[in-house]
Amino acid sequence: MLTLKNLQKLIYQICIQSFDMKGSPYHDFEESDRYPKKQEKKIAYLWGGQLAQLAAVAGQKQWFDTVVFTAEGENCPAAQVSPFVEIVYKDTQDAVQAIMDSWVDAVTAEWENVPASLAKAISEAGIDMFPNWRVYNLVQHRATEKEAIINCFNGDKDSVVNFTRVNRQNADHDIYRAFEDIWPGILKTARDGYDGKGQQKINTKDDLDTYIANVREEQSQLESLTSTWATTQDIMKFKKGREYVDFDEVECIYEEQQKDFYEISVMVARSSNGDIVSFDPAYNKHEKGILTESIMPAWESGDERITPEVIEKAKAMAEQLTEKYAWDEGIIWLVGVEMFVLKDGSIKINEIAPRPHNSGHPTEYSHDYSQYELLNLAITWQKLPTPKLIKKVHLDNMLSDEVLSIPGINEKTWEEERIHDKWFGVYEYTDGNWNFIVTKDYGKWKPGFLKWDSDEQEVKWQRKRWHMNTISNLNPDLLEKFYKKTT
Ligand code: ADP
Ligand code: MG
Repeated sequence: MLTLKNLQKLIYQICIQSFDMKGSPYHDFEESDRYPKKQEKKIAYLWGGQLAQLAAVAGQKQWFDTVVFTAEGENCPAAQVSPFVEIVYKDTQDAVQAIMDSWVDAVTAEWENVPASLAKAISEAGIDMFPNWRVYNLVQHRATEKEAIINCFNGDKDSVVNFTRVNRQNADHDIYRAFEDIWPGILKTARDGYDGKGQQKINTKDDLDTYIANVREEQSQLESLTSTWATTQDIMKFKKGREYVDFDEVECIYEEQQKDFYEISVMVARSSNGDIVSFDPAYNKHEKGILTESIMPAWESGDERITPEVIEKAKAMAEQLTEKYAWDEGIIWLVGVEMFVLKDGSIKINEIAPRPHNSGHPTEYSHDYSQYELLNLAITWQKLPTPKLIKKVHLDNMLSDEVLSIPGINEKTWEEERIHDKWFGVYEYTDGNWNFIVTKDYGKWKPGFLKWDSDEQEVKWQRKRWHMNTISNLNPDLLEKFYKKTT
C-alpha cells in the first residue's frame, strides 16, 4: 500500500541508502515455496557476530531486507553477509538515529548485553525492539535473572540452583557465610559472564581461603601501583591482565555446584499472537564452561539418563518460562533455556539467552525451520510454524586454539589471513565422507575472516569461533520411543 511512510521509505532507499550504508546486498532474492514473495520488512540485528550472521542469512532466504548495526567493523561475521552500519552501542542517541535513518521495521540483538537503555530508546522511537528492554535488564544480572525464573514457576526456588548474592562491600563475609550452607560452590561474576568467564569453583574451605587471599593480593598490587607514578596505561594494562575478580568493583553471586548432572537446552519462540513453539531439547557438553558439542535431538546422544519424561518436562518448563518471563508481559522473542538435569531427573534452569543460541545452530539442519527463521518471523509479527524434527545433528564448536592450529594462522598473522573456505561453513557427513556444503548456503558470500579480538591475543580465554554440523538420519526406534510421548 502506498502510504506517506512507504513513499518516504522508497525515496530513501533509492536516493540515500545506497550511498549511506556500507556493504551491499550480497545476493539475489530467490522465490521458494516457503517464501514465495518479498517481505516488505527490514530486520536489524545489533552486534555483528556469528549468531547475527546466521540470522541475517536466514532473513535473506526468507526475503527480508536485513541490516546489521555493529561496532565491530567490516570484518565482523555479520557485516560480511549483510549491509551494515557502524555504530557505537553506548552512544544511544546516535545509534537510535542510525536505526531510524535506515527505515528499519524490527530490531533484535544477537546477545543479551545490549544496553537496556538502548533497547528502551529504540522502542520509544516507535521501532519494534524484541525482546523488550526489561528482559535485557533482568538477564544482565545473574541474580535478577534467576529471581525472574523463580517467578515463572510460582516462586518455586527449586527451579534454579541454590544461590546467594555477594555484596561488594561485604564480599568475604558473604561468601564464607554462603559456603557454610552451600558447597561445593561456584563463584560467578553477576554481570558480563560468557563462555564460563568470571567463574571460580570452590570445592573446599582451602580453595576458598586461597581464592580470597589471591583476590586481596591482586587488589593490593593494584593499590600499590596506583599509589606510585604508574601511568593510566599501566593501570589499564594491569586491570586487563588481572586473574581474579575485584570484589570492590564487581558484584558476584555464589551458587551450588552441581555434581552428577547433564546439560540440555531448549530453544523456544513466542509470537505476537501468543503462540509458543519450541524445538526439541539439545544435549550439551561443556569444557571449562564453554559449550564444545551439542547433539540434537538430545536423546540421540546415547546418554541413558535421558528419558521421555525428562524431555517432556524440559520442553514444558522452557515454554512456561517463555510465557511468563518479565512479569507476564507477553514478550515477542526467541529464547534459549539452559538446563541442568540432576541424578533424580529433576531439572534446574541454569540461565537463559534471549536470542539465538549456540546450541541452536543444529536447527538449521535438524528441523524444517531453524531458530533464525523463527526469530525473524516472530519479530515481524508473523505466525510461527511448529518446527519439525527431520535429522540428527552433531555440532562441534571450534575454539580459539583450534583456529590457531590451522597452518598459517597464529596470533600475529591471523588477522591478515583469510581463512580457507573449508573452515568457514557447514559440513555434511554422508556415506563416510565429509562434504563441505558451502555452496548450498554460503556460496553466495565471500569466505570470511574469523575475527580475533585484540585483547584475546594470548588465547587467555578460549572463545567459540566457528562450528561444524554433522548431519545424519534419525534413529527410528528412538524417535518412536521419545516422540510418541512428546508430541
Ligand atoms: P555462561 O554465562 O558463561 O554460559 P553458565 O552459568 O552457563 O555461564 O556456566 C557455563 C557452564 O559452566 C555451564 O554450562 C556448566 O557446564 C558449568 N556450570 C555453571 N554453573 C554450574 C553449577 N552451578 N554447577 C555445575 N556446573 C556449572
Ligand atoms: Mg551458559
